[in-house]
Amino acid sequence: MDVFFLELEVRPTGQNAQAELVEGAYAHCWVLDDSPTGAYNRASHYVRGGEWDVVNATAPVKVVEENFANADLGLQQLTKAKEETIAIFYTGWSRDGKTSSGPTELQRSGSVDLNSYVQSQKRLTNKARCLHFESTGECKDLAKAHSIQKNGILRMISQDSHVYVPSMNIGTMRKNAGKVALERKGIARVSTFAGFCAQHDSELFRPIDTMALAPSDQQVALYGYRALCHEVFAKENASALIDEQLELGGHDRATRELLEAYRIGTSVGLNNLQRHKSAFDELLRDAAYEDVEYTLFIFRQPPLFAFSAVFYPEFDFLGQHLQVLTDHPTSLDLMTVCSANTDDAWGLLFCWHKTSSSACTEFLRSLATVIHEGRSVEAALLRMVVALCGNLAVAPRWWESLAEQERERFCFAFNAGVNWFAPTTATHLMADLELDTGWKCDSVRQRRASK
Ligand SMILES: [Zn+2]
Repeated sequence: MDVFFLELEVRPTGQNAQAELVEGAYAHCWVLDDSPTGAYNRASHYVRGGEWDVVNATAPVKVVEENFANADLGLQQLTKAKEETIAIFYTGWSRDGKTSSGPTELQRSGSVDLNSYVQSQKRLTNKARCLHFESTGECKDLAKAHSIQKNGILRMISQDSHVYVPSMNIGTMRKNAGKVALERKGIARVSTFAGFCAQHDSELFRPIDTMALAPSDQQVALYGYRALCHEVFAKENASALIDEQLELGGHDRATRELLEAYRIGTSVGLNNLQRHKSAFDELLRDAAYEDVEYTLFIFRQPPLFAFSAVFYPEFDFLGQHLQVLTDHPTSLDLMTVCSANTDDAWGLLFCWHKTSSSACTEFLRSLATVIHEGRSVEAALLRMVVALCGNLAVAPRWWESLAEQERERFCFAFNAGVNWFAPTTATHLMADLELDTGWKCDSVRQRRASK
């Protein structure tokens, strides 16, 4: 028997207790069975028993622990499926069109309250604090910082000060059958996060906010640090949200156990991130950048995307395993990646602390093999940006030039990357997107720390 993962799109029946509030939902299912067909039948039978009609389904795929190394909840659900033969999580959208739900078990009486969850999430996202390494927690003027600098690459790709960004707006998602689509947005409101006070933000990031990437070692470290702090901010919020839900109480046993498991997964992830942040804190405090390593791809065409992300390199561009994320959850190698404006045009910058050198160097080495095999390095990089960078903005002049099918292809690849539940597969960076960006890598610069 294997565990299969599939997603069902469902609508509440008239008898469903959630019918007044919820218009539709996705049921993310982990099923222990002999075959994909058996898994589908078992999942749809179970879901229908909870008063849901199934309107759509993905093909069941066989999954193992390693597929969920980046998805805390997915891993817990896989374990549950092994013990209880089936585990299902629902994410829904409400009838008022204003709220979406986080991970919850909608059909149970003692489940997480949809509205309180969304409200807590909003409040936490807006709760400003300062993550600067010298912050004593008493910083004033907690402004909204930009995770991608506003006057650099974001302005370069904009048109009338607007760009396209992934929409988490439930109205837009509903139009797209629950999937994330891109929407046009003013750059002042794009990719902001309340993670630095105004003074620390402007002082610390001046070398990258007011100057093009040369690159100096200091600039490289600052780009990496900003991406890292953005992720720390998001993970801290996720952690606080779970704590609040647990404190609210009133959940049935199964939901409580899931929330507890999710809390443990989130705190492991957060501890790991904080370890990487401390390493960057130290080198920025000492203005000693010897331990920063990077690879920079330089392009001379005008940029089409602005992005930043951090990730644990798991599979490389050839589908080879780099690190088993479930083995050592507290000492994983971490990569940061972002776009940056240079004097000529722009660069795609990978940066990491030398303690992450092992997986990060291997990850980039596989790109050399890609080139050697006659594949396009530009296409491989595009695939990576779309699959791994949730914090992404797209130039209107490019997006509006795409055919409908090309946009769908882009969104499909993007959705696979941001789905909390979908398993990561070894091949996720291997297939090209077949979208023309006109990119032509001009040169590569890199730095490795001395051993
Ligand atoms: Zn501060």
